[in-house]
Amino acid sequence: MSDTFNAEVAVIGGGPAGLVAAIALATAGVDTLMIAPPAEPDHRTTALLAGSVTALETLGVWPACVPHAARLRKIRLIDATQRLIRAPEVLFTADEIGLDAFGHNIENRHLIAALEARAVALKLTRMAGVALSMASDETGLTIKHADGEARVKLAIGADGRRSLCRAAAGIGTQRRSYPQTALTLNLAHARPHDDTSTEFHTESGPFTLVPLPGRRSSLVCVLDPESAAGLVAMSDAKLSAEIERRAHSLLGKMTVEPGRGIFPLAIETAEAFARERIALVGEAAHVVPPIGAQGLNLGLRDGATIAELVAEARRQNIDIGAPEVLARYDTQRRADVTSRAIAVDLLNRSLLTDFLPAQGARGLSLYLVDRIGPLRRALMREGVAPAASQPRLMRGEMV
Ligand SMILES: Cc1cc2nc3c(=O)[nH]c(=O)nc-3n(C[C@H](O)[C@H](O)[C@H](O)COP(=O)(O)OP(=O)(O)OC[C@H]3O[C@@H](n4cnc5c(N)ncnc54)[C@H](O)[C@@H]3O)c2cc1C
Repeated sequence: MSDTFNAEVAVIGGGPAGLVAAIALATAGVDTLMIAPPAEPDHRTTALLAGSVTALETLGVWPACVPHAARLRKIRLIDATQRLIRAPEVLFTADEIGLDAFGHNIENRHLIAALEARAVALKLTRMAGVALSMASDETGLTIKHADGEARVKLAIGADGRRSLCRAAAGIGTQRRSYPQTALTLNLAHARPHDDTSTEFHTESGPFTLVPLPGRRSSLVCVLDPESAAGLVAMSDAKLSAEIERRAHSLLGKMTVEPGRGIFPLAIETAEAFARERIALVGEAAHVVPPIGAQGLNLGLRDGATIAELVAEARRQNIDIGAPEVLARYDTQRRADVTSRAIAVDLLNRSLLTDFLPAQGARGLSLYLVDRIGPLRRALMREGVAPAASQPRLMRGEMV
C-alpha cells in the first residue's frame, strides 16, 4: 500500500517554541506544516539569553526583533528579606565573561510577530485550526485537525502546558505546584535602568525588573496568591506607587502600563520528551517557574535540537520518526532540562523556607559567588550557555 504524506513534519502549536522549531526545520529544507491557531495576546516579556539570540540571528528572525529588544549587560541580586542570615548583594556583568550582553529582553508580542513574519517569508503552510487527535503507526502519523486531516512522519508537540500531543503519545508528567503566583506587567520609570536587571529576593519569592528599550522595564513579581490578587485589583496609580515602594525607588517614579498577567507557579517535566512519532518542545515538555529566565530558552534549545536530529536522519536516509531518532532527542534534552529545573526549584525553595541552615547555605553560596571570580564566571557562562547542550543553531551554525 502506498502512503501519501502531506508533509514530513507537522508542528502543533504556534507559540514561540513551535514557531522556532518550524522555522528551523523549514530552513533545513524539511517539508513542514504548522497546525496552529493564532497566538493569544501575551503581555509578558522574555529574557532571551545569548545562545537564543544567536539562534534567532542564524534563522533570520533577529533583525525584526532588534528595535524592540533591550540589552542585559548586568544582573544584580539583592537580598530584600528581613531574615537573620541575609545574602550579600551580587552583581554579574557580561563583560567579565567577554560578552557584550547576557542576552536581550523583548516583549513576547514583538518576538511572536517577528517569528510569524519569518514563517510567512519561508512560505510555511499553516492551518489555523487546532489539532483534535493523532494516531501513529509503523510508517507515519495521522492528525485530525479542525480543517481536515494530515499525514506526516513526525509531529512536534509545541502545544503548551496542557498538551494534546503529550497525551496522545501516552506521556505522563511529574508536577509540583508552589504556593506562589507571578504577577507580570510592564512599566515606565523616571531613572534609566543602565541595561541592568535587578532581582530583589523577598520571603515570598523574587521581584525582578528587567530592562526594556528606553526608560521602561518588565516586572515579574512572585508572591502569595492572596497578595497577588490584591495587587491586581488596584488602580493604576495605586499599583504604580506600590511597585515603586517594593522596588525601593531604585528606578524613581514608576507608571504601570496596561496589561497585567497572573501565573500560578508550578514545575512540571514530561516523563519522556518523545514517543510514538511525537517529540515535545517548549512547555509541552517542561514548565519551570519564571526565575532566572530559563523557560523559553530551554524551549528554543528543544526546537533547535529536534531540527538538527531530523536534518541528520534525512541525510542518513533514516525514518525521521523512528524510535532511535526520538530516543536520541530524549537523551540530548534530558540533562539540560533536569539541571535547570533543579536549580530553579532550589533557588525558589531556599527563598521560601524559614529553615535557618537553608538560608545560611543560600547566603554562603552567594557570598562565595561574589568573592570567587572563577566560580562566578563559570556560573555566568553556564547560565547563558550550557556547556553540554548547545545545539548548532545556538553556536551560529545552520542545522
Ligand atoms: C511570568 C513568566 C515570565 C517568563 N519569563 C521568561 C523569560 O524571561 N525567559 C524565558 O526563557 N522564559 C520565560 N518564561 C517562560 C516562557 O514564557 C514559556 O516557556 C513560553 O511562553 C512557552 O512557549 P511555548 O511555545 O512552549 O508555549 P505557549 O506559548 O503556551 O504556546 C502553545 C501554543 O499551542 C497552541 N495549542 C494548544 N493546543 C493546541 C492544539 N490542540 N492544536 C494546535 N495548537 C494548540 C496554543 O494556542 C498556543 O499558541 C516566563 C513564563 C512566565 C509564566
